[in-house]
Amino acid sequence: MIRGRRVRIVATLGPASSEQHQIQALHEAGVDVFRINMSHADHAHMRTLVGRIRAVETELGHPITILADLQGPKLRIGTLQDGSVDLENGASITLDSDKTPGDASRVYLPHPEILRSLRVGHRLLIDDGKLSLKITDVREGAVTAEVVQGGALSNRKGVSCPDTLLPVGALTAKDMSDLEAVLAADVDWVALSFIQRPEDLAEARKIARGRAALMSKIEKPQAIERLDEIIELSDALMVARGDLGVEMPIEQVPGLQKRITRAARRAGKPVVVATQMLESMISAPVPTRAEVSDVATAVFEGADAVMLSAESATGAFSIESVAMMDKVAKEVEKDENYHSILRAQRFEPEETGADALAAAARQIGETLNVAATVCFTISGTTALRMARERPFSPVLVMSPSEKTARRLGVVWGLHTVVCENKDDLGEMIADAGAAIASQGLGKSGDRLVVVAGLPLNTPGLTNFLQLAFVR
Ligand code: PEP
Repeated sequence: MIRGRRVRIVATLGPASSEQHQIQALHEAGVDVFRINMSHADHAHMRTLVGRIRAVETELGHPITILADLQGPKLRIGTLQDGSVDLENGASITLDSDKTPGDASRVYLPHPEILRSLRVGHRLLIDDGKLSLKITDVREGAVTAEVVQGGALSNRKGVSCPDTLLPVGALTAKDMSDLEAVLAADVDWVALSFIQRPEDLAEARKIARGRAALMSKIEKPQAIERLDEIIELSDALMVARGDLGVEMPIEQVPGLQKRITRAARRAGKPVVVATQMLESMISAPVPTRAEVSDVATAVFEGADAVMLSAESATGAFSIESVAMMDKVAKEVEKDENYHSILRAQRFEPEETGADALAAAARQIGETLNVAATVCFTISGTTALRMARERPFSPVLVMSPSEKTARRLGVVWGLHTVVCENKDDLGEMIADAGAAIASQGLGKSGDRLVVVAGLPLNTPGLTNFLQLAFVR
């Protein structure tokens, strides 16, 4: 499906968007990737959503991408005697291993390994950072903290420990079970929450065994410290600004977004900018000017995708929020400064055949103003390296692998078509020309630049570049 924009749109499914007709309407409004948040979906519901997305895919006849987002080690306090208690600034509170409901002087923290890792001076941020505590004393099975920023503390609120390297992997028992379920349901991408170290990816990689690609959510300071190593082991990144803005000073989030986006682009790994992009559209038909500007900034930065969370999952204007994102992205991509900004942030090719050919194809495409760049790809690598070049011409990706075609749906600028598995290059180029003409990207006689690996159908090989024509 030709979108008329390069940046992709990810939308989270939820109560406002779970029926098949709603999924189809969201896709038609511009959604390229559907996100299923495993913090809220049980296995049966997840399978229902996957089935509905696949039914829309079959009906419309082009690949659609599914991203399952695992909850990760989200820490929570236990319960309170009255459900809630007011904590005063300067008061002292103990977090301990006692399961009994808490009060203003103590509360249960059901994570003994976290209690053991906290040190005097570490901060604890509760309820998305609304409350803040500083540890003043540590002993066996308990810590005491001073209330720095008080407020209402209520049952099972989330806790962040930005100063503490948590002795937990990225996969909890719930995540393991969710991961098996989403792999069995054949989702394309799995997002891993609260990644702290590169090793956190290893376990998921071992379980996934190539069945889904892995997207690391960057939302902890520990992940920022080891960003390049994490990028190297990830298939894609998400700038998870919600938790990132709790774990790190919120004023640092815009700079971190730029840093993560650039590092991912340099590595040629897709990067999704997420959270609160059009937040006010949860309850209003029009976003704020600041939100429009936020979406535009991510598009100007050359992010692969922008994401909607509650806007599409629970909002009253889910379709409108997608349509708005689509409109903003298209307008940015028409802006006279768009290409020069992208060009200024382009990275040198790496010393590989794939990068040398992708850079040459981009250059030829610009010199000759080709109708499209065509990539034949089995594994998707050639297409990813082509997208890394951020070429001006549309990129048509032809792959006989439905799995590859679906995965590439999160990548900047790629229009993906599942093609017949042929080994005759001339026939493949003729098929590409036909697809270009039928999708309105070009007409008979227009020039194409073709990048592929010969012999065709050899995964991971890029060694062929040719100028051709739409016949
Ligand atoms: C985020 O924190 O920005 C995020 C995308 O994660 P979640 O929606 O799972 O909290």
